[in-house]
Amino acid sequence: MKISNITPIVTMPIDGLPWLFVKVETDDGYYGFGECTDYSVNLHLFNGIKSLRSMIIGMDASNIENIWQTIFHSYDDLNGRGYVSHLISAIDIALWDIKGKVLNTPIYNLLGGAVRDRVPLYTHVQDFNSDKRDKKFLGGAAREVPLHNNDQDYNSDQGRLESLAKAAKETKNAGYDAIKTDPFPSSINGYSGPSEVERLTPKLLRLSLEWMQTLREAVGDDYELMVDAHARFDVASAIAAGKQLEDINLTWLEEPIHVENHNALRQVKENINVPICIGERHFTRWDYTEIFANRLAEYVMPDVAWCGGISELRRIAAQAEVNYIRISPHDALGPVSIAAGFQVCMTTPNLYRQECLHTWFKTFEKIINPMFTIENGAILPNNLPGLGLDLNIDEVKKYEVDPENNQYLNITDNDQNAANQWIN
Ligand SMILES: [Mg+2]
Repeated sequence: MKISNITPIVTMPIDGLPWLFVKVETDDGYYGFGECTDYSVNLHLFNGIKSLRSMIIGMDASNIENIWQTIFHSYDDLNGRGYVSHLISAIDIALWDIKGKVLNTPIYNLLGGAVRDRVPLYTHVQDFNSDKRDKKFLGGAAREVPLHNNDQDYNSDQGRLESLAKAAKETKNAGYDAIKTDPFPSSINGYSGPSEVERLTPKLLRLSLEWMQTLREAVGDDYELMVDAHARFDVASAIAAGKQLEDINLTWLEEPIHVENHNALRQVKENINVPICIGERHFTRWDYTEIFANRLAEYVMPDVAWCGGISELRRIAAQAEVNYIRISPHDALGPVSIAAGFQVCMTTPNLYRQECLHTWFKTFEKIINPMFTIENGAILPNNLPGLGLDLNIDEVKKYEVDPENNQYLNITDNDQNAANQWIN
């Protein structure tokens, strides 16, 4: 069973959210789907997937580990973590999909079988900056504004807080038992993301605390809440933010600072009394070995489409188990990614929850078949082989965009529409 073709496709059924899927075909008629969506760098990944053709077409699709190792070591001058592990992830997921189809069983059965009958999810309500995201988030363009602490644009807004409380109550009533948000106003004009080392002024800290107090009051004392800092802040800001959030009783504070310097993270960790979660910007078992050895986090959140695929997520989960740490796969991508993470979660004893954006499910319904079975904030297994879904190619092609042409990212007129997809 030789790999005969590898096809990347970028499709954007939700304005501003281009998803990068990969189809791997074999010479005996099987095919599987993978995903390595990473919105602002999709073009690089799209071309990287195409460049793998000369390396792995003709290899035996059954030998998933051999193909994993081949890509990883062939590109080790780039460091196999990050860009390369994204490429590996898409291929690995597709090969597991093929293997499940060949053996006519769900992937989790090939990983040791189920340890649970469903995978619990956590989801999102709006971030403080949801209505301020703009095309720079999507296009990855160089920043156009100087770094400054521009907090005069922000004021306490009762209408926005009421909207937050309403969304939280609706999400809780829909059956979800845990919610995440980013409560921190941006110190950079119109941009929310880790493009700078941001500083939180006293005013921005006060507004973020107000955001979280509103959320806590809306959902009650026993409900699980997480805060995502999106790896944005300097050490002093992260410590100040963590300290003031101690009374909110968070399940975790996620990526309080930029991720490159573990000693800086240790400084934050030693000065706050909130559990830490990191991982979406860490890749492969080698990054995680260091996290666990240095006791840097209470939770980890590898992304199956970035960390090295199903094979690597399973290995990282086992490393976490050794350290009595729960995993919670990161997922803010398309439906192939969440299906792949689900397969590992089904067989992982030390699972917390899998991430999702439940407001995207109505779009998933259009492009996958069958849609996930969601019940009380959890995904149920459907016992179909492989990933348990097929991409509806006609629908996927209807929303196909050309990653070589960044025009599709120029969504100025639709910025608000795109932002709303995060918060509705
Ligand atoms: Mg995050």
